[in-house]
Amino acid sequence: MFVVGVTGGIGSGKSTVARLLAERGARVLDADRIVRELYAGGELPAELERRLGPGLLEEDGAVDRAALANLVFRDSSARRELESIVHPAVRATILGRLDVWRAEPFDGFAVIDAALLVEADSPYPLDALVVVTAGAETRIERLRGRGVPEADARRRIAAQASDAEKIARADYVVRNDGDLEALERAVARLAEDLERHASGRARGPETG
Ligand code: ADP
Repeated sequence: MFVVGVTGGIGSGKSTVARLLAERGARVLDADRIVRELYAGGELPAELERRLGPGLLEEDGAVDRAALANLVFRDSSARRELESIVHPAVRATILGRLDVWRAEPFDGFAVIDAALLVEADSPYPLDALVVVTAGAETRIERLRGRGVPEADARRRIAAQASDAEKIARADYVVRNDGDLEALERAVARLAEDLERHASGRARGPETG
């Protein structure tokens, strides 16, 4: 198995790149989706309520995402507390699923689709890092297309680390300023590069 991290700022198109890689047989771990799963039940909602206060859960025990967003929007220490709970839980889930896949006879690409990959306190065990970039105005337009109000989109983009930081660590950069057809062509080239990278690694000396 060859583990590929796909990251980029919100609206850059990283989930679309991950989906296009999935169409080519990759297995994808989507950090946003894992957060939604963790919020839906189990231990995490109760821990959030314990640490961040009452009023954050729905009647069925799932996290009330609107209430949570409202809290961390107003209170930056609550936001940091939330991140200190959620990020390790997402990381543990991703590492656990990678372990399961490693134990299977699966010899393909595992893709981790996450906004926070290089900024995470503990790095993920990546064989290659792909950074997807797009200009801020393009990203805002895409987010608006997904129903995110412009002011919200600008605030979320401003809160994220710059692309330069991510690009400095990237093995591959996919520029996604064009249309979807251009992105499909870029991902076809990326997939070829990754195949070469993975087979080079398979043939190369054992580096641990
Ligand atoms: P991210 O995961 O980086 O936040 P997404 O992959 O979800 O971004 O893309 C954000 C939105 O932009 C989605 O609605 C997606 O379909 C759209 N999108 C992504 N790339 C392109 C592109 N090249 N042309 C048009 N729309 C795109």
